[in-house]
Amino acid sequence: MTDLQRQDCLALDAADPLAPLREQFTLPQNVIYLDGNSLGALPRSTAARVQQVLTEEWGEGLIRSWNTAGWIDLPRRVGNKIARLVGAAPDELVVTDSTSINLYKVLSAALAIARADAPQRRVIVSERENFPTDLYMAESLAAQHGMRLERVEQGQVISRLRDDVAVLLLTQVNYRSGALYDMAAVTAAAHAAGTLTIWDLAHSAGAVPVDLNGAQADFAIGCGYKYLNGGPGAPSFVWVHARHVNRVEQPLSGWHGHAAPFVFTPDYQPAPGIARYLCGTPTLLSLAALDCGVDTLLAAEPLGGMQALRRKSLALSEGFIRLVHEQLGAHPVAVATPLDARQRGSQVSLTFDGDGYAVVQALIERGVIGDFRAGDKARGDADLLRFGFTPLYLRHVDVFDAVQTLRDVLDSGLWREARFARKGAVT
Ligand SMILES: *Cc1c(COP(=O)(O)O)cnc(C)c1O
Repeated sequence: MTDLQRQDCLALDAADPLAPLREQFTLPQNVIYLDGNSLGALPRSTAARVQQVLTEEWGEGLIRSWNTAGWIDLPRRVGNKIARLVGAAPDELVVTDSTSINLYKVLSAALAIARADAPQRRVIVSERENFPTDLYMAESLAAQHGMRLERVEQGQVISRLRDDVAVLLLTQVNYRSGALYDMAAVTAAAHAAGTLTIWDLAHSAGAVPVDLNGAQADFAIGCGYKYLNGGPGAPSFVWVHARHVNRVEQPLSGWHGHAAPFVFTPDYQPAPGIARYLCGTPTLLSLAALDCGVDTLLAAEPLGGMQALRRKSLALSEGFIRLVHEQLGAHPVAVATPLDARQRGSQVSLTFDGDGYAVVQALIERGVIGDFRAGDKARGDADLLRFGFTPLYLRHVDVFDAVQTLRDVLDSGLWREARFARKGAVT
């Protein structure tokens, strides 16, 4: 096989039926954006929509807009759009709060169900390399419930599902390695062991096809500002399977989760269905921006939807991996993400024997934006250079040019310059 050439990538782009979707975004000139897994790009429609919410709906409509502009219903309406991307039925999913807070709600509910059905189960299992907020929230809840959080290695999750495990909390696509769990298979194994599942879809909603109902999952949460392009701090979403949703209350019993919030009764009565997972007043401006972000994904529906986006995402990541192998052989770089496409989300992580942080900073100066995640050295975890491949707005030629830039940065030793070693507050 001959090496992949730039013109091959241009030909792939010319034949790409999803190529027009890129027009939905305003991307800066001379930037190749490979960090949509951390913060999605800005849709063209967002600025005008937020402006309209500000000047017309708020400025002119004032408080009337809760009814006239449909503000009160927006968590449900945007939720119903996201539901189409993750295999949830209408009115099973709402947008509210942050991922961390929604995790608190669903894990509390799952523990309440486990306490009722299987009080001898006292362990929450998660993956040691799960995203820290998930582990922190789980640890705090375990302590409140007199239970224990066990952080296991990825390869040991299934074998740990013994009869003391109440809840299995997993992020479907690992934020470090980009490894993807088979949700249906893992959920089936958990259920066979009598364990409830919580799936964090932060790196899968809008990135890979998800079928929550098909997998018989129990609870799910996800992030609005990554592949859903909702903008910085966009609210999160929460889903609960119909068999559980009315069984227990979640603990953050704010008035928007009440069955009749505008009756203002002194006693709490949870709304039926997923609306009980709402809490306080929705963050309207962020929610309107998220609505625009989710629309950029729904625009792919006539072109094959998430299945088509997945095919392109894998073509991009396969191309990246191939180019890394072909172009960077002279450098101490290795692919840390599963090479088997079935086990890979929409990102590729590389290890680098050297200052990976400086390499990423030098890449950013050259217009290729990825990011860096330090590993736990005591555990032998590698530092990772992360590159996200958002099929909505990335071209095959971007992948080629990104690897070429990485090669230049490494060949020239540019990354060794002192300015690239300085760390900002956010990495
Ligand atoms: C990004 C991410 C979060 C973010 O949580 P916030 O509450 O929005 O800060 C949570 N969990 C996972 C797995 C993530 O990747």
